[in-house]
Amino acid sequence: MTQTAASTAASRTAAKSVLNESRQIERAALLIGMGARMQVLESETTLSYERLIRLYKEIAGKSPSKGQLPFSTDWFLTWQENIHSSLFLNIYEYLGKGMELDAVELLTKAYRLYTEQIEIAQVEPLLSFTRAWRLVKFVDAGMLTRTQCVECKGQFVTELYENRGYTCGLCNPPARAGKSKNAGALMLH
Ligand SMILES: [Zn+2]
Repeated sequence: MTQTAASTAASRTAAKSVLNESRQIERAALLIGMGARMQVLESETTLSYERLIRLYKEIAGKSPSKGQLPFSTDWFLTWQENIHSSLFLNIYEYLGKGMELDAVELLTKAYRLYTEQIEIAQVEPLLSFTRAWRLVKFVDAGMLTRTQCVECKGQFVTELYENRGYTCGLCNPPARAGKSKNAGALMLH
């Protein structure tokens, strides 16, 4: 390789890495804007931890909250949380079939649509962006799936081997449902 060819190749590589880096920063900024926690940023971008901390402070105007989300599927299976999670996952699966989106685009689009639906229903969004991300990870890992309710035919987040004859939290609300007037109580009928 001649001197010129070598230096052209080198500058092309440098340009590529600058482009990739700016794409990573854009991605991180988008995620921080959605309220993502550090776990999400570390998993979905190639930026260093120190870099992400600095970006986070710059964009969010505060330090990221410490502590990890519990690594458990239980949260997604409790009553109202399950209804919110199911609504989100249905949107996510639907978008994933129809569009060519990368993982982060799909997640952020689906999450925006979820919050829009929740606003229309005038309830609090129980599912945070980071939880939504975690839910998708659980589904990808085969730890959670969707099962059809035998009554309303809706698809709900469940464990992998749900009993036949599964009924959802809307068709078969727990006994405490009548008494609770929690924010976030989503009753679709
Ligand atoms: Zn149902």
